[in-house]
Amino acid sequence: MTRFPEAENRILNKKICMKCNARNASRATRCRKCSSESLRPKSKEAKGG
Ligand SMILES: [Zn+2]
Repeated sequence: MTRFPEAENRILNKKICMKCNARNASRATRCRKCSSESLRPKSKEAKGG
């Protein structure tokens, strides 16, 4: 998947809240929506594995 390296980078540099699935900045330590600290970096192996 190298169609949109820039776009993918932007997406991959996010953190996903495991509580409400909100996207947060990669530097965020808490979810901006629910303030949960359960953030996981969006992994690069989203598809295909
Ligand atoms: Zn959240």
